[in-house]
Amino acid sequence: MSRGLSLAPCGLVIERVESETDKLLLVARPISKTAACPTCSGISARIHSQYQRALADLPSQGRLVRIRLWTRRFRCAVAECQQKIFTERLEATASRPFARRTTRLEGIVHHVGLALGGRPGQSIARRLLLPVSKDTLLRVVRRNAARADAAPRVVGIDDWAWKRGHHYGTIVCDLEKRRIIDILPDREAATVTTWLAEHPTISVIARDRGVGYIQAATEGRPEAIQVADRWHLMENASAAFLTAVQRSMRAIRTAVGVGVVDPTLLSCAERRQHAGWLRRQEENTTILALAGQGIAIKEIVRRTGKSRGVVRQVVRGGRADVFRSRTNSLDPFTKQLETAWANGCRNGAALWRGVKAAGFVGSLRVVTEWATRRRKEDGIAPENSRPRKSPSARGIARMMTTERDRPSKTVARMAAIIESAVPDLVSARDLMDRFHRIIQHRKSADLESWISDAKPTLLASFATGIVNDRSAVKAALTEPWSNGQTEGQHTKLKLVKRQMYGRAKLDLLRARLLGAP
Ligand SMILES: [Zn+2]
Repeated sequence: MSRGLSLAPCGLVIERVESETDKLLLVARPISKTAACPTCSGISARIHSQYQRALADLPSQGRLVRIRLWTRRFRCAVAECQQKIFTERLEATASRPFARRTTRLEGIVHHVGLALGGRPGQSIARRLLLPVSKDTLLRVVRRNAARADAAPRVVGIDDWAWKRGHHYGTIVCDLEKRRIIDILPDREAATVTTWLAEHPTISVIARDRGVGYIQAATEGRPEAIQVADRWHLMENASAAFLTAVQRSMRAIRTAVGVGVVDPTLLSCAERRQHAGWLRRQEENTTILALAGQGIAIKEIVRRTGKSRGVVRQVVRGGRADVFRSRTNSLDPFTKQLETAWANGCRNGAALWRGVKAAGFVGSLRVVTEWATRRRKEDGIAPENSRPRKSPSARGIARMMTTERDRPSKTVARMAAIIESAVPDLVSARDLMDRFHRIIQHRKSADLESWISDAKPTLLASFATGIVNDRSAVKAALTEPWSNGQTEGQHTKLKLVKRQMYGRAKLDLLRARLLGAP
């Protein structure tokens, strides 16, 4: 008997073992002679009746294990207790009188479900001889998530993409316990407000500076301290600088001299692209002029006939860019053509045969067109030749920030030209740097002077945003909390979402993330 005891789940003793080829059947009973009433906690030794329960347990020696457990009903010993008869609660079944698995099996099943989800979990479980279906795995995961308690004090709110660019949800993390505490189906202010209102223990909310979350935090928990997320503040500053570059593209183009395009030097396809680009530039100018007069987006949409999306994009400076020809099928072979050209070959057909042998699949006409343009170029001064690669706004922003410490020669030259031609961009860049340092080193004392310095510059609207959210930004510099740590939770979320092959149902996704210890 004592040897059997060590195999038994906690608090049980094995009376008999019946062995079959692929199965072990244990007949067991509780060790304790008494039980506590679930209503009054009074201890009782007065057995009313007993019955057998079937439980699944962990496999042993490559065999499934079933337990037939004698379970007792007791009479409550406390006379005034309303519960006259009760079933004993056993640790081996996590005090659940209707459990069909032992606590230790349930624990393993929960972990398999959390780590792998339903279907993949089921196939691993089968190999491990755990007698559970995919539905059971998911049920166990859901049940344990429902139990996860939540009385958070400090939460971080952030959005996450169900489907990038289409559908966003909200992830809520307990920043003290460093774990996800809820997943909300969208990022609407109303949803988040309701959630916050249901959690009165919250006293600090770290959030990004999106209007929705500001509103939700203010309405849902008006007395809580709001903290602007430091990571997002850094991002916002960088984005504001990028916008400044985009707004300055016209000046940059003129300075760098890539805006001058001679259409006769373009291929047919490039000419079409160039015409489209010119048309877009014209639209941009019109829209920006209207916006400059303070006309509402709705009215601009009506006057120009462009979509609301396009108008908004232009007004935000998102569509200003230099003309760049798209690559064509001949591009990989231009080096070879140039060599042949330099060697004196001017015959289109001969040039075509050369590149065709090297793998070019286009027609003869593409090559003869190239030869015609090349002939024209020979007669023109090199500075007016057809546009080479010209940098994008993003590229210029990078050039002036992250790449400035170790630039290549060409980058350094281009950056110098831009910086001397558009000095406003240099001050915008320096302001962005200053802002980053304020955040990184928590220099809250420097914030006010930064705001007044930034107001008359290209970063004006970003500065206004900071002013409007001043107390939360200040809190970001003084409070220890930031959403930065939810980054790891995002990774976890993405991993689980991917494992579910994008078919994740919200409640299950939630359960798998929340149930994790
Ligand atoms: Zn009782």
